[in-house]
Amino acid sequence: MSRAFDPGSRIGLMGGGQLGRMFILAARSMGYRVHVFVPEKHSPAGQLADLEMSRDYLDKAAVREFAGGVDVLTFEFENIPRQTVEWAAEHCEVRPRGEILHTTQNRIREKEFLEASGTPLPAWASVCTAEDLPVALARIGYPSILKTASFGYDGKGQKQLKSVEDTRNLDLGAGPFVLEAKVPFVMEISVVVARGADGRTACYPVCENIHRNHILDATVVPARVAPDVAERATGLARRIAERLDLVGVMAVEMFLLADGSILVNELAPRPHNSGHFSIDACVTSQFEQQLRAVCGLPLGAPDLLRSCAMANLLGDLWAGGEPDWAAAAACGEVKIHLYGKAEPRPGRKMGHLTAFGATPDEALARVIAARDALQKNGNGVRAAAKD
Ligand code: AMP
Repeated sequence: MSRAFDPGSRIGLMGGGQLGRMFILAARSMGYRVHVFVPEKHSPAGQLADLEMSRDYLDKAAVREFAGGVDVLTFEFENIPRQTVEWAAEHCEVRPRGEILHTTQNRIREKEFLEASGTPLPAWASVCTAEDLPVALARIGYPSILKTASFGYDGKGQKQLKSVEDTRNLDLGAGPFVLEAKVPFVMEISVVVARGADGRTACYPVCENIHRNHILDATVVPARVAPDVAERATGLARRIAERLDLVGVMAVEMFLLADGSILVNELAPRPHNSGHFSIDACVTSQFEQQLRAVCGLPLGAPDLLRSCAMANLLGDLWAGGEPDWAAAAACGEVKIHLYGKAEPRPGRKMGHLTAFGATPDEALARVIAARDALQKNGNGVRAAAKD
């Protein structure tokens, strides 16, 4: 049996964003202390941490000092350099293990792993040099999407290729890339799965994800899919977590096709934006689940208490001034979460709303109405569900 860390222990967290902030809220409510390592100062997570060490991830002495001061270490962000994790692992337990970060940091490694474990994927090919592109296109065809293998998220580092015209003047200097067939999905879904140090897994209900400009806009839970789709999606997520020997929380993003088949898009070996609903709507949130897994405690029940929907609040909402918080708060079925970010830049995730309903449709309508109510005088973005 692997080591367990009781309340009162010090947890090290690499990364200082909102996922870390929500993890700290869960950790603090169970009596843990959290130290954050992040290059910036006064990060969303650092604001709530017992200690924020603002140093570069490649500052070896700082990483060692940090890891020496905690009992167990985890992440809220997967793009931590490999060396950083290795240095830390010399001084404390690291969960999930560094190899999982290494695999999921790079789309080529991730797809090779998924393919080897029999996971259905969109057709893909790696593109490491300019000569690889025509070979890959001959196999994958159009329409397709060229994605940078590393450091891509929310559609960043992606280029849609509709015809040979789009391949002219491509800058392949930022590679390597993967070329992926553009999938005609009917819905994007995700499953958040937790796996404890004892090997037991717990899956949250399937999330239905609505994107806008490649950024998650809203999540509806449970997803409006047939029971057999939910069962297969959950089975896929559970199997991937087991194959990875994950100890922690992971989101598996998937595409649902018209014939009911499911293809896996990508993995995130940490709590995920689509799982934020679990804070208000589940017996155990994804962040408490991460805490339990990382600390070697048994997982909590992931059960959904009520149908719900989550809507992201992007910086665009501030375009016309401070949002009308009282208008959203006036709906008693809506919960407001803000991440402590001072600067509301367009596209920046500033917070989210979660709403409940008797049905998923009612919850979605309610959360969209609440978000619309935030926009004074019709300023800012319109809700995706109404587009
Ligand atoms: P990603 O960063 O890979 O999760 O991509 C961001 C978003 O782009 C996804 O949520 C989809 O909406 C879209 N997308 C990515 N890959 C594909 C694909 N192969 N086919 C169709 N849409 C895609």
